Amino acid sequence: MDANAPITHDVLTIPRKLPEGPQNLIGLSRDQMRDVLIKVGIAEKQAKMRVNQIWQWLYHWGVRDFGEMTNLSKSVRATLAENFVIGLPQVVTRQVSGDGTRKYLVRIAGGHEVEVVYIPETDRGTLCISSQVGCTLTCSFCHTGTQKLVRNLTTAEIIGQIMLARDDLGEWPVPGAPRDENRLLSNVVLMGMGEPLYNFENVRDAMKIAMDPEGISLSRRRITLSTSGVVPEIARTAEEIGCQLAISFHATTDEVRDKLVPINKRWPLVDLLEALRNYPKVSNSERITFEYVMLEGVNDSDADARRLVKLIEGIPAKINLIPFNEWPGAPYKRSSNNRIRAFADIIYRAGYSSPIRKPRGEDIMAACGQLKSATERARKTRAEIAAETGL
Ligand code: SAH
Ligand code: SF4
Repeated sequence: MDANAPITHDVLTIPRKLPEGPQNLIGLSRDQMRDVLIKVGIAEKQAKMRVNQIWQWLYHWGVRDFGEMTNLSKSVRATLAENFVIGLPQVVTRQVSGDGTRKYLVRIAGGHEVEVVYIPETDRGTLCISSQVGCTLTCSFCHTGTQKLVRNLTTAEIIGQIMLARDDLGEWPVPGAPRDENRLLSNVVLMGMGEPLYNFENVRDAMKIAMDPEGISLSRRRITLSTSGVVPEIARTAEEIGCQLAISFHATTDEVRDKLVPINKRWPLVDLLEALRNYPKVSNSERITFEYVMLEGVNDSDADARRLVKLIEGIPAKINLIPFNEWPGAPYKRSSNNRIRAFADIIYRAGYSSPIRKPRGEDIMAACGQLKSATERARKTRAEIAAETGL
């Protein structure tokens, strides 16, 4: 990718409203789809087969028009078109960074907006998706945490982000062509806007659709959910989703973590670590990723590195060091490269892999923690934060 390539900024002209009225088929589980088909008159004994057919059209072929579902009779197609829509969130703008990173601003019902980021790498292509508009949590280094408005995304809006990225990448299979195993969109990370474990059911149901072998068919090993530490939901994630887990760790004492990740006041390090110790065996997953944002003079000392290694002893782990991505008005500075390397070295000598995350898409504000839609820039008041989080 040419690092000097210009940023392109396509503004698409779109209707402001999502279709209203007929029910959206996107986002339904197979059982839910069966129920709604029966309700509109599809014979009960055919319903399961119809679900299989429709499912493949929607999630394997990426078809958006009932007329193209050629293995269904004309009358079934007409019934579907009368009663249902195939509705995705709408891409409002698309920016492409000099490094190939793509950032989509996506509009959902109610006129809210979330961001989705696609990051191409040599061995994979990762889509970073959002789970909420804004975030009720208020991590002090995170731009999303200063955003006022919050609502949970629906299952359709979550799976829809993967589908619209596949549209843009031109990645739906072509009939008759062999299946391309080198996918452009090979991995999904729930690291965009929002706390996924505060929208558990919708995130779970959307990931079930993404993993379904008759459709998008992403392996659970290629999906990583990042949480700030909603301890009671961590065990459920292992049992009900089984994906990879990343944890926004960021500090090695409760005193510092209380300030950086305020949810720590409710579930402190000792509780969090216990939940993490149990995760791999319940989910049969690989290592847990410990995300650690490097903030100058706050959490980046040699003593922090040594404490970190000690705290996570016995947990299959990799540590992902994230140079702080600054945003206008941010109260922290990024640690120097030398400091980050010294920190990484201590971790590496303790036997952990400690990649330093390369900021991507910085020229289009697409890096971790910078996501925040331009329409919603008001800072929350302390009182609002307290009311929302109960902290
Ligand atoms: N709410 C979830 C997932 C979204 S944040 C969570 O907190 O885990 C994805 C990652 O980016 C988290 O590890 C988060 O702590 C980190 N992050 C947030 N703001 C950042 C910033 N300004 N610079 C670097 N990383 C940041
Ligand atoms: Fe929310 Fe995650 Fe940002 Fe914290 S780091 S405010 S949990 S999005």
